[in-house]
Amino acid sequence: MGETRNAVLDGSKCTVCGTVAFPVNDMCSRCATRTTTAVELSTQGRVWAYTIQRFPPKSPPYIPPAEGFSPFAVGYVELPEGIKIQAILDCDDFTELDRAPVSLVSTSPVPRFVVGTTQPSGARQ
Ligand SMILES: [Zn+2]
Repeated sequence: MGETRNAVLDGSKCTVCGTVAFPVNDMCSRCATRTTTAVELSTQGRVWAYTIQRFPPKSPPYIPPAEGFSPFAVGYVELPEGIKIQAILDCDDFTELDRAPVSLVSTSPVPRFVVGTTQPSGARQ
């Protein structure tokens, strides 16, 4: 596989009240106007809530990996824009997930974040 562009989540932002939405919504969920514009969402966020999927989800839609199922974390990542994105959360140890800083690594088929920051210069806390 060749180079892929850095993962980016495409959202929308209301030009009247500034409310950000994901996925893209052409009508603002807060003030109900049709004045949204496309925005690229932050790729860094923080785990807001999570749970551990300890058994294989129903398949389809779940596609088990070739090496077999192993438990994984799913949850919500809060972005600086003030919204929460449902995502798969990659980590070495589930106990490190609570309020952990995470970085977006892919968007397909669902958003996926990994614990840690990919840009050491962006020292957000
Ligand atoms: Zn609005």
